[in-house]
Amino acid sequence: MKVNQGVLEFLGVVGEYPYILIRFFIVAITLIVMVFLAIYIRNIAYIKMIGELDSISGLINWDNFKIEAANIIKKNRDEKYAIVQFDIDKFKIVNDIYGINGGNNLLKTVGSELENLIEKEELAARFYADVFCMLITYNTDDEIVGFIQRVNKNIKNSYPVVNLFLTFGIYRIVEDVSIDLMVDRAAIARNSVKGNSVRYYAFFDSKMLEEVMHEKKIENTMQSALEAGEFEAYLQPQYSVKTEKIVSAEALVRWNDPIRKIIPPGEYIEIFEKNNFIVKVDVYVWKQVCKTINLWLERGCKPYPVSLNVSPVHFKNRSIIKEITDVVNEYNTPKEYLELEITESVVLDDMEYAINTIDELHRLGFRIAMDDFGSGYSSLNLLNKLPIDVLKIDKEFLNDASNSERGKIVIRDIIAMAKDLDMQVVCEGVEKHDEVEFLKGTDCDKIQGYYYAKPMPVLEFEKKYF
Ligand code: C2E
Ligand code: CA
Ligand code: CA
Repeated sequence: MKVNQGVLEFLGVVGEYPYILIRFFIVAITLIVMVFLAIYIRNIAYIKMIGELDSISGLINWDNFKIEAANIIKKNRDEKYAIVQFDIDKFKIVNDIYGINGGNNLLKTVGSELENLIEKEELAARFYADVFCMLITYNTDDEIVGFIQRVNKNIKNSYPVVNLFLTFGIYRIVEDVSIDLMVDRAAIARNSVKGNSVRYYAFFDSKMLEEVMHEKKIENTMQSALEAGEFEAYLQPQYSVKTEKIVSAEALVRWNDPIRKIIPPGEYIEIFEKNNFIVKVDVYVWKQVCKTINLWLERGCKPYPVSLNVSPVHFKNRSIIKEITDVVNEYNTPKEYLELEITESVVLDDMEYAINTIDELHRLGFRIAMDDFGSGYSSLNLLNKLPIDVLKIDKEFLNDASNSERGKIVIRDIIAMAKDLDMQVVCEGVEKHDEVEFLKGTDCDKIQGYYYAKPMPVLEFEKKYF
């Protein structure tokens, strides 16, 4: 091989002045500089790559998800794409039990499961905390549901130490809007099924936007409405089946909005339960009722006992004993005139706590009613276990029953069973004469329904019944 003369001279192998050492150093320094340069360039690339990843889940980071998603959608105009978002319900529990590292391990596991499930030209990233987003292609809604089922199953199976519950929201990309807006819409869909124990996914539809706006409007005005005295406790009479006379009442809240007039509870109770405002409304209603009963006593009238609704939120956040005793002590109202209505959902969540709380409320002198029996997953077993005084049979249950012979048999037996367990029975939502006649043939004690009277303002109630 013919070696270049200049190179040989430079290396000092040939030539007049072979400054071997100097030249050797120059070569060595050049090599070292080159090695450092290579390492530097590699590091820059590595840092850039790290910058694109989310260090916890190992998926691409959120900023890149948005850029890439926009590119993919633009590039594949003929494909149908959807944004799928989910979060891990009770993720905080994993953090509490297994520490931050345990929580991070779960997020990493989710990251690698998603990586395995998505395909080319699809994306997955962690949005924030325990919320993940994916961009997927699809042909039919069933395909999306199938994908969600796989994600759900794989993640649950990959982390069997905790019973994970994932909630999904889907936005099918039908409009050329920003990725942020698409993700918001998937979030709206996800929030619509949050806390729902039966459905774990929902597709976004534009009606949800109206609901969110309605919810925001209610949330923006509720506190000032409470302060302005726009909430009022109405009373609905409860009639004795035997005597057909009023014997007691239930307090039901009404919101007198200056513009919309009376807003029915169906429009806001659920929202108040979600944002905990129901706790304030309940206390407000209890106070109004205590004042009313005291006023009746002052006037020398024998008060009708009044049932107070206790929201499941109140019961579950363990403040019920303190809240109700504070109110009753403040007004010094005799407890014999108060009854507390709880719903079965509070019992199903934690039976032991429910029984202990009911026992404590009994010791304090309150009577306890189980509201809406028959509207949910009511079990007869519940009747046997719970130390309740009154069973309120839900109007839907009664309506169904009054339309069939078999239904009548079931209602009759439930009433008989409750009576055997020393409970009083109240049937709600009674509207028709037939229903009253049917109930007269059972051991039902009281009827509450439009057949006798609708809920009414206290003044009207007093005029009618005193
Ligand atoms: P609920 O406790 O089951 O109250 C009975 C509901 O049935 C009331 O609706 C009442 O007006 C209605 N009702 C009574 N008789 C009939 C009837 O014959 N036919 C029909 N169709 N309906 C009848 P309302 O007042 O709209 O209250 C709805 C729900 O809102 C209540 O159901 C209760 O769950 C909740 N709620 C109302 N006030 C309060 C409150 O102060 N606190 C809490 N936590 N919840 C409340
Ligand atoms: Ca009630
Ligand atoms: Ca009820």
